[in-house]
Amino acid sequence: MVNDKIAVLGSGITAKSVLAFAKRMHIEVVDVHDASLIITSPGINPDTFPKINTPIISDIEWAYRWFQNAKNPPTLIGVTGTNGKSTVTALISHVCDIPYAGNIGVPLLDYVGLEDEFPCIVIELSSYQLETCVDFRPDIAVLLNISPDHLARHKTMEMYIHEKTKCFINQTEDDHLLYNEDDDVVVSMIHCAKSKKSSFSKNAVTDRFGLVKTLMGDHNRLNAAIALKVGALLELDEDTSFRSLHSFKSLKHRLEFVCDYNGLKIFNDSKATNPESTILGIKSFTETISLICCGDDKGLDLSELVICIGKNVSELILFGGIADRLQALMLQRFPNFLVTKVKDLQEAVAYGIQSGSNGHVLLFSPASSSFDCFNGFEDRGNQFINGVTSYVEATLA
Ligand code: ADP
Repeated sequence: MVNDKIAVLGSGITAKSVLAFAKRMHIEVVDVHDASLIITSPGINPDTFPKINTPIISDIEWAYRWFQNAKNPPTLIGVTGTNGKSTVTALISHVCDIPYAGNIGVPLLDYVGLEDEFPCIVIELSSYQLETCVDFRPDIAVLLNISPDHLARHKTMEMYIHEKTKCFINQTEDDHLLYNEDDDVVVSMIHCAKSKKSSFSKNAVTDRFGLVKTLMGDHNRLNAAIALKVGALLELDEDTSFRSLHSFKSLKHRLEFVCDYNGLKIFNDSKATNPESTILGIKSFTETISLICCGDDKGLDLSELVICIGKNVSELILFGGIADRLQALMLQRFPNFLVTKVKDLQEAVAYGIQSGSNGHVLLFSPASSSFDCFNGFEDRGNQFINGVTSYVEATLA
């Protein structure tokens, strides 16, 4: 490994961490044609990989190989699924008091060499990272759920599922696989796993999770229950794990409370980049909701979202690529439903606040990603928060 000459594909956080690691380990970085190993960033589509025989692996796979060469390889917990990865990863990290890495934004390579200091790490794994994993094998794999997403990259649902199985496919009888028994796709995927299987279910989440104020919505109570199950696999005391949930700070852009403006509670759920996430966001409230959706039309099935909006939302505010199709589907199913199309986020914020009432909720939960107008969900969420803050400040001035 030290003798490898590596090349790096990409230029973002992952590529920078690979280059920093290579420098730290005195590994030569060369052109792809001279490399014995190529480390790719998750953002690089394999269709564009150089057409050569040199192995191309993810930074996760590379870090894993380094860990295996260490005197005391750390215990690795790998979390994957379509939705809830970051939240569950952060919850496991919090409950088990261990660091997190991977898709959540901290490069796994940062922990190579620190195995004694950090003997256990939880890793969020996206399908893009798993795509170029080969030997990667976590001691505990957590498989949350599978629904159609990222099909532009993986092309078929079968390929998307295939990439996700790489989270547990190399596991042995000594490893654990914690899976969602409510999800038919997940259940059908795990037959080939050799690991010790245990499951979780939304139906088994006890009422006591409702006592934890930091957990909004049934899905987050389930996420906390999953974290506790991982804690139990690590032999942590269950009561101590449960108590720690009270101090968990939910991640930004996931049902994040922005402010209360004259009794209108405003929430930023910019991370809702697909219809399932927005449905969960909507179902987290009992109050009357005005919903703002936007983003690219990824061509996903919107029928369940339409029904959920029709039943639980009082007004839908739309802009961006998804606006025309969602409006048409809403009006087809609920002809009298109040749908308002606006120009952009600024107009959506102003309109949403003006039309909102005391005791209601204004929820920004886009239901799609929007690389049309924003640099990802963080930028979109931050622009929403800034828009709300500017509007509120202007009206108070
Ligand atoms: P990811 O990292 O997989 O994108 P996040 O933790 O960032 O997931 O959450 C994204 C959205 O996924 C949340 O806003 C919520 O709507 C939804 N979500 C969270 N937890 C779950 C879950 N256990 N099952 C299904 N959807 C979930």
